[in-house]
Amino acid sequence: MDERIRQDHRIPEAEALERLRGLQPDASTSRRITEKALRLARDVRAARPAGLSAESFLRHYGLSTQEGVALMCVAEALLRIPDPETADALLREKLAAGNWGQGAEGSWAASAADWALMLTGTLARWREADEEPVAQLKRLAARLGEPVVRTAVRQAMRILASQFVIGETIAEAVTRGRALEGYRFSYDMLGEAARTAEDAARYFEAYSGAIRGTPAGDGVSVKLSALHPRFEEAKRARIFAELLPRVAELVRIAAARDVGITIDAEESERLELTLDLFEELSRKLTLGLAVQAYQKRAAAVCDWLVGLRRRVSVRLVKGAYWDGEIKRAQQLGMPDYPVFTRKAATDVSYVACARRLLSAPATLYPAFATHNCRTVATILELAGDRPFEFQKLFGMGNALYAALAGSHPVACRIYAPVGSFTDLLPYLVRRLLENGANTSFVHQIADPAVPLEALVADPLEALPEPYGPDPRIPLPRELYPDRLNSLGLDLSRRDVLESLQDRIRSDRKREALGEVAPTTAQELDFSIARAGAAFDTWNRVPAAGRAEALERGADLMAQRMPELVSLIVREGGRTYADAVSEVREAADFCRYYAAQAKRNFQDPSILPGPAGERNQLSLHGRGVFACIAPWNFPLAIFTGQVAAALAAGNTVIAKPAEQTPRIGFRAVEILHQAGIPPDALCCAVGDGETVGAPLVADPRIAGVAFTGSDETARRINAALAARPGPIATLIAETGGVNAMLVDASAPPEQVVDDVVTSAFQSAGQRCSAQRILFVDEGCAARVMRLIAGALAELKVGDPAEPDTDIGPIIDAPAREVLARHVARLRTGSKPIGEARAPASGNYLAPVAFELPIAALPKVEVFGPILHVCTYRQRELDQVLRWIRDTGYGLTLGIHSRIQGFVDSVVREARVGNIYVNRSMIGAVVGVQPFGGEGLSGTGPKAGGPHYLFRFATERTLTVNTAAVGGVTELLTRAPN
Ligand code: NAD
Repeated sequence: MDERIRQDHRIPEAEALERLRGLQPDASTSRRITEKALRLARDVRAARPAGLSAESFLRHYGLSTQEGVALMCVAEALLRIPDPETADALLREKLAAGNWGQGAEGSWAASAADWALMLTGTLARWREADEEPVAQLKRLAARLGEPVVRTAVRQAMRILASQFVIGETIAEAVTRGRALEGYRFSYDMLGEAARTAEDAARYFEAYSGAIRGTPAGDGVSVKLSALHPRFEEAKRARIFAELLPRVAELVRIAAARDVGITIDAEESERLELTLDLFEELSRKLTLGLAVQAYQKRAAAVCDWLVGLRRRVSVRLVKGAYWDGEIKRAQQLGMPDYPVFTRKAATDVSYVACARRLLSAPATLYPAFATHNCRTVATILELAGDRPFEFQKLFGMGNALYAALAGSHPVACRIYAPVGSFTDLLPYLVRRLLENGANTSFVHQIADPAVPLEALVADPLEALPEPYGPDPRIPLPRELYPDRLNSLGLDLSRRDVLESLQDRIRSDRKREALGEVAPTTAQELDFSIARAGAAFDTWNRVPAAGRAEALERGADLMAQRMPELVSLIVREGGRTYADAVSEVREAADFCRYYAAQAKRNFQDPSILPGPAGERNQLSLHGRGVFACIAPWNFPLAIFTGQVAAALAAGNTVIAKPAEQTPRIGFRAVEILHQAGIPPDALCCAVGDGETVGAPLVADPRIAGVAFTGSDETARRINAALAARPGPIATLIAETGGVNAMLVDASAPPEQVVDDVVTSAFQSAGQRCSAQRILFVDEGCAARVMRLIAGALAELKVGDPAEPDTDIGPIIDAPAREVLARHVARLRTGSKPIGEARAPASGNYLAPVAFELPIAALPKVEVFGPILHVCTYRQRELDQVLRWIRDTGYGLTLGIHSRIQGFVDSVVREARVGNIYVNRSMIGAVVGVQPFGGEGLSGTGPKAGGPHYLFRFATERTLTVNTAAVGGVTELLTRAPN
């Protein structure tokens, strides 16, 4: 793959556009294009709207109506939910009395009404009933009863699906396709990415079956992520060994039948891998590739394709994962987005890409996938007599291509999804995003209020100069108003993975991680004395000055990312991804507490009171804080505690866990380098008994910030209570017995993605990790099967290897405890699945067992062991009681499509961090302030707005301003 493709990945939008500008049509060509586009657009708008069409659906229920999304969600869930009880609950909720009649047009009830009426034949033509739909539906429901309406909605969904999906099987698809004369087809097999080897094998069969059933001249589009459960950069070696031959096999079957194969475009993080795979495959085989114009490197990809000098058909699309790309870049703290933030910028990029693809007619055969009149007109203008084709989605763009057929006889192919209706949702959602948003062409052409001239205008004119990103979408690092988001590392880049791997290898050679000599009693005594002596000086540094040092610390951590990642991997046994999040979280803590200190500690707040008196409240450090951290977030938690204590004006003795002293040392060194005075922050290393215990027992310690097990927390609490002198502050964050609740409306694939992340990432050695899965009997079988399949795909091993998913258990005693627990489970519980672990080394294979509720552990099992318990809806109360009875309250996950279910669980839970329809680990500083209640901790939450106050003492100052002669502010007030 070309280096330029890599360089252009996240370049600033303005720079990318500046380059594309030169490839746009000149002014007179642009005018011709506009005229042509205008003629097409007039025809399209004048065309009689089709009865029930995909477009009419998108227009009425697209993304711009919230109800449209809700409706899609219900319809999808209805088709998928296995048990009628849950399906009914879902419908009952959505058809609930409150939703009826809230404005007929576009309301949820109106949509449901349309569907129901359409089905019962009452609605002769789409949206042409003379009676108001809600009224009709109400009448219908009254006459026939709610169950009939439910069935009607379900049936209507099937009818709707048939507008987007050409057939359930390839045979059906081909038959239906034949009726559409003049078109070629590229069939797409509906479905999500494979999660398991079994899924991948099923998709392979589906693809090869489809290819065999496809007529010569037509094609099949292949999604690589469907053919392999781990289509990721980190798994490159496996992908080349396992996926490449599979695709090659499909291409061969296809070639023998003169069927074309096109590799579909997916998320941008898969592009490098896709291109390398494509390059390899296309050495000997002929196949096609889809290119997304919304990626900033699209033009570079086109240039690369031209340079390959191989026969390739290229489908140019605009791109369907835009929202996901933006969200992911923000979450990962990337320097910039991989995609354009403005639609017009994508259109500009599309034109530039088209130009390049058309420039090599001897080798490249471009297919332009679009429903946009301007784009079509542009291509016609640019292409001249060079060979190309247009592509449209099945069920969409009919009016445009009918209009085109009249004036320009060009080849057009239909991208036609094939599959069961239950696999429809992901596809529909993508189409909704592309075409249902009110900024989309399809949406606007149908809206008579949008002038056609504006709709077909040159996209370059729509871009304000100077070019830049859409100001409503802040750059990933500028998400927060008062601080920078931490910078991430892009682990989907091969060069990044390789350089980390090299670094870790050479660090390992250079430095053996033997014992670190513990801090002696004298040293500890001296350090506490020194920190005590330094307290006043540090406490008097204005909060802004303390904050500045912490912000510098955050910058330094980002700069030293590779070094820190290497150390965390080597000493803490964490994987690359975990280690990168560690460094980011540590930097986030520094910046967050710095911002909090500036806001609350800089100036005293003035309090309201009587005239002639000034009352103010100020915050100060308490003295010397002991910060005691666990090994499992050796940098993030350690730095977080220290940064908070320092920000509030305290001096600090910080003790990292005995398993990870070097990481603690390094963090302290970085903070010193950032400007924290050495006597204000000192690192003491050693174990709990010989260093931790005397530290907290020392009466000079004014407060303790502790994170670790609840036994240790209790011990520290007792030690503090036994000390003479002032009562110290204790902030303790401890463990949890964390559960996830899943009802039958939740999609099993998403559930299992999140379970695998929550229960097994970091070898389950996170306080937030999921220990228990309560899953509704309705979907339990499928969920457990998927868990087993996903476990089989995990690589347990040396975290220094970039493809390792799960590293070791922290030490031999910890592993021993876990192994005993697994041995007990093996005797009494039903095994669900297990990963493989290396025979030597301190590894424990991630594993899942099924248990009855009475046998679930009520204590924290700190490793990659998942306990699964099935339940029925009517047993929900019992489940919630069980969770509460553990006494812990750290994290809780919920997966459901039924808001009522989510609400009732949230209402009952006494848990610090609840996550709905996502994983339950990975809290982000300031976004999900973290910490539990009950046995799980004292609070306040780390990374939350109340944390710093616990490190502070408050003072008020009251001054009688009248003492020197009268209440001046009363006497001098302005006359009114
Ligand atoms: P741990 O309690 O064994 O050790 C934590 C720290 O306390 C270590 O630095 C240790 O040396 C020190 N320590 C031990 N005995 C001490 C004593 N008597 N006096 C003073 N210090 C003492 O915990 P761990 O095994 O390092 O960490 C895992 C535990 O931490 C799990 O229970 C996990 O749930 C919990 N944890 C909680 C959170 C949270 O935010 N709630 C975050 C991470 C980890």
